[in-house]
Amino acid sequence: MTDDLLARHQAVLPSWMSLLYEEPLEIVHAQDRRITDSNGRTYLDFFAGVLTNSIGYDVAEIGDAVRKQLDTGVLHTSTLYLIRSQVELAERIAKLSGIPDAKVFFTSTGSEANDTALMLATQYRRSNQVLALRNSYHGRSFGTVAITGNRGWSASALSPVKVNYVHGGYRYRSPFRDLSDSAYIDACVADLVDVLQIATSGDVACLIAEPIQGVGGFSLPPDGLFKAMKEVLDAYGILFVSDEVQTGWGRTGEHFWGIQAHDVVPDMMTFAKGLGNGLAIGGVVGRAAVLDCFQAQSFSTFGGNPVSMVGATAVLDYISDHDLQANCTARGNQLLSGLRAVANPVVGEVRGKGLMIGVELVEPGTTTPSVRAAARMLEETRNRGLLIGKGGLHGNVLRIGPPMTLTEAEAQEGLDILVDALAATHAALT
Ligand code: PMP
Repeated sequence: MTDDLLARHQAVLPSWMSLLYEEPLEIVHAQDRRITDSNGRTYLDFFAGVLTNSIGYDVAEIGDAVRKQLDTGVLHTSTLYLIRSQVELAERIAKLSGIPDAKVFFTSTGSEANDTALMLATQYRRSNQVLALRNSYHGRSFGTVAITGNRGWSASALSPVKVNYVHGGYRYRSPFRDLSDSAYIDACVADLVDVLQIATSGDVACLIAEPIQGVGGFSLPPDGLFKAMKEVLDAYGILFVSDEVQTGWGRTGEHFWGIQAHDVVPDMMTFAKGLGNGLAIGGVVGRAAVLDCFQAQSFSTFGGNPVSMVGATAVLDYISDHDLQANCTARGNQLLSGLRAVANPVVGEVRGKGLMIGVELVEPGTTTPSVRAAARMLEETRNRGLLIGKGGLHGNVLRIGPPMTLTEAEAQEGLDILVDALAATHAALT
């Protein structure tokens, strides 16, 4: 950094604004999958702005689409007028969702998308009781902080909804870790039934779940879990909301939406982040009966603005034109097999799907979460020119989520750095 930007940041921004790294980065330039900081150092990006930069940086097609919109003179006026690009993108997402008769409401962030889904579900079901998964993250608004089960990010004591948490999110440190997949699914279903019967009056509005927990440490449930859980929900008429803010748009490789691994059609899905590749966008797609249930007049000043709409349309075109979903499978398998081959005692588990890979770090040879190993890994990888993320309940999980355009050579480059940095981290810890 060229000046005292960090001190100024701390003086004027709230204390809970998290920053990564002992010496936080100021990013001044980005191209493809590489970003350059204010000291002139360039890094390969394996975190993509927490999975926001889905297709990399400085993508000509996005720049062109946004510039063309700016040339009309209309950055935005209001969603009280007809916006062609909003209708077209909504039609496209409704079709992609696989939800029959789907409607779409656009927001500017993932938090606002989940807040809207909560509002709709509670309104539709006339109940403010909600179920969420343990260790979940759903956002930073009043409603979504309340349904965030990861205690480091939640403040549910002041909740506007009555929330109960169920198993099905973070398995590695749950009492069910050593169960087979099918026994784990049975245990989660039993827990759900138990919570419904003991802690609720039954008329719960919805269960909201991330198909793969993001902030929670890229924790991957067995395929089919949510189908089994939804059968219970259906018996009560409870809505199922899939939070696809991190798992959508093909990132998991085998499916376009993370929830499709469970053979489930949700009542609503929420999305954000990667759809905009850096532009502010979020939204809810869901059954028309649910989306239409809000009785009052409403709108969003910026949700559905034409700049985000044309940019997001260009992102979706790019993902399908370049078959990035298939690339996520190929590069994901390359990274997963490379990481699984590493015999390093700080690695407790390597998990994930497509380009959403978590590495659970433990104190060497134990299952105790190693926060110090994760902190060290961030510095070791940065020093070698690679940016990764961390997360998980204890902050001990490495999060690897490069842009979906990652090449084979870049995957290998990142892998080599990760392996090297793991060895250095292990050496430093022992
Ligand atoms: N849901 C999930 C699964 C997320 O990972 C996030 C952001 N990390 C959000 C919701 C909130 O999105 P935003 O930060 O855009 O409000």
